[in-house]
Amino acid sequence: MKNINNILEKNSDEMELVHSFQDACSNKEFYKFITTLPIEEKVLIKYTSSLEDAFIEHKNCKNCKGIGCCKNSVTGYCYTPEKEKNIIKFSYVACKWKEKDLKENAYKENLELFDMPKEIKEASLKEVYTDDKSRVPIIRYFKEFIDKYNKKEEPRGLYLTGSFGSGKTYLVAALLNEMARKKVCCALVYYPEFLRSLKSSFQTDYNERFNFIKTSPILLLDDIGAENESNWSRDEVLGPILQYRMQNHLPTFFTSNLTLEELETALSITSSGVDKVKARRIIERIKQLTIPMELIGKNRRS
Ligand code: ADP
Ligand code: MG
Repeated sequence: MKNINNILEKNSDEMELVHSFQDACSNKEFYKFITTLPIEEKVLIKYTSSLEDAFIEHKNCKNCKGIGCCKNSVTGYCYTPEKEKNIIKFSYVACKWKEKDLKENAYKENLELFDMPKEIKEASLKEVYTDDKSRVPIIRYFKEFIDKYNKKEEPRGLYLTGSFGSGKTYLVAALLNEMARKKVCCALVYYPEFLRSLKSSFQTDYNERFNFIKTSPILLLDDIGAENESNWSRDEVLGPILQYRMQNHLPTFFTSNLTLEELETALSITSSGVDKVKARRIIERIKQLTIPMELIGKNRRS
């Protein structure tokens, strides 16, 4: 008796599945959608309600003009059925807009920011103002840099000095973003803040952070000279970073409101006294690593 009940129950469950499937198929568009799937009807029958969800999402995608108009449950993704042996698995597949977006933003994975605003990843050489003649030699140098880097000629970075807000950070970031598109990993470090956070990481990931920056294939030390100088930051941080990068021919960029001469003075005076020799040694390393350039221009900060 138990067996017969089981069979009857099973049959009625199956009938219900068939009915709801047939109901759904009375919608011609839905029927068309499921017949394009490489899945047999006897399998499809078991998934009517999920297939209906997938159908709605695919229909949304068909009429969609861009990710901003996405109507699906997970923005940029489409609920999609796929046959796996005798079952259907549903997953969220990136739509064509999302794919494009992911592809366009893939370079950001190659950019490591340390205390820099994340919008800096959007800086682009295409957007660089051309109204300003002082940018021309810098842009020319960037082209040369890219060319030499491609040929593995180990180009030098820049020591870019100039007034506050003239666009130094933006310019170098635009080049580094371009290098990231070429799959080169770059670290962009807001140097004064990096020093502060490095100091407070003695007990934790000090070595990891320090080594990451030291060995990054391309490095920007942004706003050098704006930090509070100490013997530690000059002799234990900056010195070894520059030494390593020089020995390994790793391109290094600096931006600063100070000229190299002014930086030398700033580096020589620390809270523990004056040491011109150590400051000079740092400046020598910077000179070996970079070409000095100046960006004079109006303050672009709003
Ligand atoms: P600096 O580092 O010389 O102090 P920034 O690079 O921070 O100056 O630039 C100042 C402001 O101007 C920033 O908000 C930056 O985003 C903007 N800016 C600079 N150059 C450009 C550019 N080429 N295109 C768009 N915005 C720019
Ligand atoms: Mg800056």
